[in-house]
Amino acid sequence: MSTDSSSASPATPTWGRYGDLRPTQIDAIRDRAPIAFVPWGALEWHCLHAPIGLDSTKAEGICMAIAAETGGVVLPAIPLGVNTIKPYKGFAHSVDTSADLAARVAEEICIQLADEKFRVVILFTGHYPPEQLDALEEGARRAREVAKNTRFLVWADNQFLGGQYVGDHAGATETSFQMFFDPDSIDLDALPDRPLTLDGDGVMGDDPREASVERGERQLKVVLENTVSKVNALLAEIG
Ligand SMILES: [Zn+2]
Repeated sequence: MSTDSSSASPATPTWGRYGDLRPTQIDAIRDRAPIAFVPWGALEWHCLHAPIGLDSTKAEGICMAIAAETGGVVLPAIPLGVNTIKPYKGFAHSVDTSADLAARVAEEICIQLADEKFRVVILFTGHYPPEQLDALEEGARRAREVAKNTRFLVWADNQFLGGQYVGDHAGATETSFQMFFDPDSIDLDALPDRPLTLDGDGVMGDDPREASVERGERQLKVVLENTVSKVNALLAEIG
């Protein structure tokens, strides 16, 4: 995908990675589209073929693709996964976060972004067990009590895959996203030569050997079809 327009060089970019932007660039973006995307990820076992930061890479890549269409800023991905596959199934290479901590971080980031005059904040998570969504919703709920002029939403990528694809864990869908956003990070040859299971391999969903860069691109297109108009409607609502 193209991330070139997030480069810090244009004086008046329409979107960008928040940490890469100078103050006047942020002003220019916010004047047109006062929206901040907060990609939410995890550090979590994603089987032998995929990196543990997959959820972060996926969420950040999707947020950048949406922002490229709608405008806005994209924060660095926050790798605080609640109920990772470590407590769930005992897989190592996973750093688990309490729901209280994730909610508190979400709350403070939301309030700070409202203080920075963003009128819409979307917590966009690539890690989506119910405990994660509940924690982010709790953070957003608390922020709403404090920052009444900003809309706070919690979205997860699997809500926007349409009927064609299904959210999974280290399966064909997630692996395709990862292959699209960072092709060299996947090694399908690292997988054992047998069917993969949740208990044995930490894989949920279709076999990751069905993944491809092209499928990742198609999935992203579906997500954009299901999100960009929603974001534009939100921006129109706030005027
Ligand atoms: Zn994942």
